[in-house]
Amino acid sequence: MSKSLQFTLRADEMPTHWYNLNADFPEPLPPPLHPGTREPVTPDLMTALFPEVLVAQEMSPERHIEIPAEVRDVYSLYRPTPFLRAARLEKALQTPAHIYYKYEGVSPAGSHKPNTAIPQAYYNKMAGTKRLATETGAGQWGSSLAFACSVFGLQCNIYMVKVSFHQKPYRKLLMQTYGATVHASPSNETDYGRKVLAADPGSNGSLGVAISEAIEDTMKHPGTKYALGSVLNHVCLHQSIIGEEAILQMELAGEEPDVIFGCAGGGSNFAGLAFPFVRKKITEGKKYRIVAVEPASCPSITKGELRYDFGDTAETTPLMMMHTLGHAFMPPSIHAGGLRYHGMAPMVSHCRKLGLIEAVAYPQLKVFESAVLFARNEGILPAPESAHAVAAAVDEAIRCRSEDRKRVIVIGLSGNGLLDLAAYDSYLTGHMHDTGADD
Ligand SMILES: *Cc1c(COP(=O)(O)O)cnc(C)c1O
Repeated sequence: MSKSLQFTLRADEMPTHWYNLNADFPEPLPPPLHPGTREPVTPDLMTALFPEVLVAQEMSPERHIEIPAEVRDVYSLYRPTPFLRAARLEKALQTPAHIYYKYEGVSPAGSHKPNTAIPQAYYNKMAGTKRLATETGAGQWGSSLAFACSVFGLQCNIYMVKVSFHQKPYRKLLMQTYGATVHASPSNETDYGRKVLAADPGSNGSLGVAISEAIEDTMKHPGTKYALGSVLNHVCLHQSIIGEEAILQMELAGEEPDVIFGCAGGGSNFAGLAFPFVRKKITEGKKYRIVAVEPASCPSITKGELRYDFGDTAETTPLMMMHTLGHAFMPPSIHAGGLRYHGMAPMVSHCRKLGLIEAVAYPQLKVFESAVLFARNEGILPAPESAHAVAAAVDEAIRCRSEDRKRVIVIGLSGNGLLDLAAYDSYLTGHMHDTGADD
């Protein structure tokens, strides 16, 4: 193996703009609706939660949006992220397929989430915000926002789902190290948290409840804004840096993808990798297959309905047109914590409706089997979320073997699993089980 397996970009080759797929959809995305009037939401409703620049990005029809120099400067701590040929995995699978992966696990928080945390903190700072409130499940988003807030000098107040707060203390400690305040949700900090606790003092919490607490916190504290780590259009926009880099890195590798796999929880890392390639499908007639991979136990895009639904349990957010399992859905506690969300980003849902992407669901044992195979050949320990994309890619590579066909496969590896070793322990010791959405 004398050929280079890495394809990197010089600083002067780096993308300078994010890509907004809303400019190229053949049919416009249905707008978010006000929960009371059911009329499309007006910007002023959203500026209670977000600074004006982010609201403008949320609704922007512009194709390319410039990445501020200050944001590019912070990105340069870890970007461009690696793009590698998984030559050893190919060999282990004895496949004629060429497998590449785009690895976001080198960011300070270990996932793709700082790609949007950094610009969100930056735009808030510019708008005079003093403090950000947010929710986090297992802590990937919380630690990303905590890092971004420390870079731009903002306070950060985080509602962390209680079961993770107690069972997964390491990301909580990372958030605290970055200077954030972390509450176990449901908490006594908000009316909604107190209400949930009154009804069920032993409540383990959920992402929906934590979102409701963070929104209430924002409304009640002047100088505070809210930040969301997935689902929304502006989050998908910021994540497009992943795909923009990957397109340039594929050119260096001298190949074009046939199939692209990304894991999908709220949909943002998938959108980030996929949307620049979706643009090429729409504007250049490319035939890429682009596949969102989700857990069988929380199958919003493969089994959920496409309809208007709330983003949170307390029904405070605007209604979004999305694939949803219903905002009251309580996913089983699978190890890929970042994929336990009842809905799918409206933009990703819209892509599915228009036939621009496909979706599949994988059970967790299969996912961990592939994660271990990947780790043993490539060295990187995939995050349990990312391992969903690995599992689907491994199956595709095996199909190539039986069909004796070369295909170029790209995996979006959204993060590393170094803080998820307890999940690997559970797999390696035979304690992991598959749970269905109905369990
Ligand atoms: C949060 C997270 C996800 C899921 O979120 P998306 O918005 O669907 O990208 C996936 N992978 C990792 C590593 C995460 O931290």
